[in-house]
Amino acid sequence: MALALEGSTCYNEGMMIRGRTTREPSAARRDLLGLTLKQLEEWFRELGEPAYRARQVYNWIYKHLVTDFAAMSNLPLSLREHLAREATIGQVTVRSEQHSKDDRTRKILLELADGRLIESVLMLYPPLRGSSARATVCVSSQAGCAFGCTFCATGQMGFERHLSAGEIVAQVLHFARELRAAPWRARGLPGSQPIDHITNLVLMGMGEPLHNYDNVMQALRILNSPEGFNLGARHMTVSTVGLPQGIRRLSQEGLQVNLAISLHAPNDELRAQTMPVTRKYPLAEVLAACQDYIAATRRQVTFEYVLLAGVNDSPVCAHQLGELLAPLKQYAHVNCIPVNKTAADYRPPGPEAIRRFRDILFQHGVSNSVRAERGDDIDAACGQLRTRFVAQQRSPLARSNTAEPARSR
Ligand code: SF4
Repeated sequence: MALALEGSTCYNEGMMIRGRTTREPSAARRDLLGLTLKQLEEWFRELGEPAYRARQVYNWIYKHLVTDFAAMSNLPLSLREHLAREATIGQVTVRSEQHSKDDRTRKILLELADGRLIESVLMLYPPLRGSSARATVCVSSQAGCAFGCTFCATGQMGFERHLSAGEIVAQVLHFARELRAAPWRARGLPGSQPIDHITNLVLMGMGEPLHNYDNVMQALRILNSPEGFNLGARHMTVSTVGLPQGIRRLSQEGLQVNLAISLHAPNDELRAQTMPVTRKYPLAEVLAACQDYIAATRRQVTFEYVLLAGVNDSPVCAHQLGELLAPLKQYAHVNCIPVNKTAADYRPPGPEAIRRFRDILFQHGVSNSVRAERGDDIDAACGQLRTRFVAQQRSPLARSNTAEPARSR
């Protein structure tokens, strides 16, 4: 589920673009980022190597964050050379990068081994009221998307393919290495501790994560592994348009990841105008799946609701939303997100309308909050960096002026 309509978390305008390439992709070699430790051990056994060698490699990849087998100094030279021929540590190449003016948001365009393009975002949050600083990575789960939400640039591309688990993990490791090399400290807070590691992961980039269920779950388990990246499941969020079957499967995983449903409207008629998936899965079906999820996990579900002035912010809409979610009791939380001012054709409600909307939800016993806006210099929807990059590469003038032309597909 893309960040698209969550106006506060889409990232283009006012950013610097820096072309950069990190690594030549290799489709022929085995991508170790797609393997759990157990699978890596099995692969090493097939190579005739003891299992502890796999643990050493896992340690180098996820604790030391190396990108080169040559750096794995406790491995025999012959094994390092063999791995360099037969395997890779990720198969993505950074094609473009943007930073917001305050450097709290960084967006990258990644090229996959087959030339397809995806986006990932790093969001940096300063320490607040005694809590530590946070570094949240928003990753893509698919190239393109099949769900066609009208507000989303990715949705207009159509579906290209699912990402592999390794391609999802690679997005997180890219930013982990970046922070390790250059820890971030919020400007104007000289006493605060710099942050040098990823604290949170959200699947809100390009694609619908529950549509690519198996690869997404594999990636989450790899990133959650204590022997590896060791990111706590409670620090991971799967954001979905609401695929009932996927929600029910997730409830049986025994992995305490957070579930967020992109709702954006309190009734089917209004929701179907921007989210065609509503015609296949009406809200009643989505909510029934959420009920089952809550019964199985006893975990709260977050409902993302972008407030669009004059569209879905009326008291009637608030009452409908309250009635819809009240049966979930304390297990439902609404995240009200005033749309970014710069989003095309939409404007955010004023403070009074937001307060009224929230009060009505409280009257129905539905907890809610307002997501803090990030910088207004960041406005564009998920998928737009890719769209712009592709348009530039297709332009003859741009191609002749580009030092490093786009790889052909
Ligand atoms: S079209 Fe796909 S990527 Fe875009 S918001 Fe909808 S589900 Fe998310």
